[in-house]
Amino acid sequence: MLKKINIIGAGISGLFLGCCLKKNNFSVTIYEQDRDVSEYGAGINLSKNATILLEKTGLLENLIPLGYKPKRVNFRSFNNGKIINSVLLNKERDDVFLSVNRKDLIDLLKNTYLNMGGELIFGKKFNEINNSTESFSDDERKSELFVACDGIRSEFRQKYFLNDEPKFSNLIAWRGIVSKKNLSSHSLWNEINIHLGSDGHIVHYPISKGEEINFVAIKKQKKWEKETWISEGNKIELLSDFNSWNDTVMELFSKSYKTHKWGLFERESIKKLVSNNLILMGDAAHPVLPFLAQGACLAIEDAYCLAELLSKNDDLIYCLKKYEKLRLKRGKTIQFRSKLQGSFNHLSNGFLVFFRNLILKMFAKYIQKSIHKYNVMDEIKRLPN
Ligand SMILES: Cc1cc2nc3c(=O)[nH]c(=O)nc-3n(C[C@H](O)[C@H](O)[C@H](O)COP(=O)(O)OP(=O)(O)OC[C@H]3O[C@@H](n4cnc5c(N)ncnc54)[C@H](O)[C@@H]3O)c2cc1C
Repeated sequence: MLKKINIIGAGISGLFLGCCLKKNNFSVTIYEQDRDVSEYGAGINLSKNATILLEKTGLLENLIPLGYKPKRVNFRSFNNGKIINSVLLNKERDDVFLSVNRKDLIDLLKNTYLNMGGELIFGKKFNEINNSTESFSDDERKSELFVACDGIRSEFRQKYFLNDEPKFSNLIAWRGIVSKKNLSSHSLWNEINIHLGSDGHIVHYPISKGEEINFVAIKKQKKWEKETWISEGNKIELLSDFNSWNDTVMELFSKSYKTHKWGLFERESIKKLVSNNLILMGDAAHPVLPFLAQGACLAIEDAYCLAELLSKNDDLIYCLKKYEKLRLKRGKTIQFRSKLQGSFNHLSNGFLVFFRNLILKMFAKYIQKSIHKYNVMDEIKRLPN
C-alpha cells in the first residue's frame, strides 16, 4: 500500500496533483523552495481538456466567477488588425474555455489543498531523494512515491533522467496586464485576439471577471543575456519593439502599468518519465513553448491522470507504467505542435502568409478542436490491462 506521496514544487502541477490525491485520501506533502507560492501578474487560458478535470475535482465552479469565458478567438493581421478568421468558444455548457489570472488559479489550488488537510512546507529546496529511499528496496518502492513538479528548470530531470540544459528558443515574451477601464470602449477587449506578424505575435484576452486585459507579446531575439528568466520590462522598449503594429496593440501597451520580459526556453524531448519511485510531471516532464496555451493544461492532465490511476489500482508499478505511456505520448505531441505553431505564426514570406491565412480560414476551428477535445479520463479507460 502506498503510504506517502511527496511532491516537489508548488506550481500548478504540484498543487493540482495535491488536490487530486487528497480527494482520494492519500497522504501527501508538498515541498516548495520559495517562502510562499510566488505569482507575478499574468493571465492563463484553460481549455476544455483541462477544465473538465477541474470540474471533476470540484474546482471549476469556484474558478469560473474569478475568470472570464471569452466568446471567440480572433486571428488578425499585425499591421491593420483585420480579422483573418474567428472561432467561437464556450458554445456549449460542457465546453468551458476559461481565461484567468494565474494568481487566482494558484490561490484556489493552494487553499483547496490546505482545506483538504494537505501538508505544504515552504522554504524547503528538495535536492535529492534521500538515501533511505534512493536504494529502492521492493518495500520502499511500493510505499513511497516522489513526484518532481519542479518546473522547466527541473534539477530532478537533470539528475535522474536526462542531463540536458534548457536552451534559449530565440524568442522572448513580454507579459502585462491593463485595467479595462483605462482602454477605449470596444467589444474586442472581451475576446481572445491573436495578432500575427513576421517577427512575432501578440495575444490579448480578458481575465479577472473581464475587468483586466492580459497580453503576451512574442518577439524574435538573438540572445538572452540575463541571469534570470524573467525581468521587469520597460514600456518604451516594448512600444519600440512593436512600433509598426496596429493601433489596438499600441493602445494596450501604452496603458500597461507593469510589464515583464521572459526568455522562452526549451528542453529536449525525454524518453521516460519514471525512474524507480520518482516521476516527472508538468514543465519538468514536457516544457512547451506557449503558442498553443497548453503548458498548464498538460500539467493538469498529468496530475489528474496519476491520481486517477493510483486511486483505482494498488499495483504502483502498473500505475507508473501506464502514466508514463499516456503522458509521454501526449507531452511529445503538444511539444511538437506548439513549436510548429510558432513557425506558423511568424511567417514573413508573402506567399506563405497567404497560404497560412487560407489554412486558418478553412481549418482554425479543427486545429483548435484537435487539441482541446483530448479527454484523459477516456484515455485511461482505453488502456489495455
Ligand atoms: C508567456 C507564457 C504564457 C503561458 N500561457 C499559458 C496558457 O495560457 N495556458 C497554459 O495552459 N499554459 C501557459 N503557459 C505555461 C504554464 O505557465 C506552465 O506550463 C505551468 O506554469 C507549469 O507549471 P509547473 O507546476 O509544472 O511548473 P512551475 O510553475 O514552474 O512550478 C515549479 C515550482 O517548483 C518549485 N521548485 C523548483 N525546484 C524546486 C526544488 N528543488 N525543491 C522545491 N521546490 C522547487 C518552484 O519554486 C516552483 O514553485 C504559459 C507560459 C509562458 C511562459
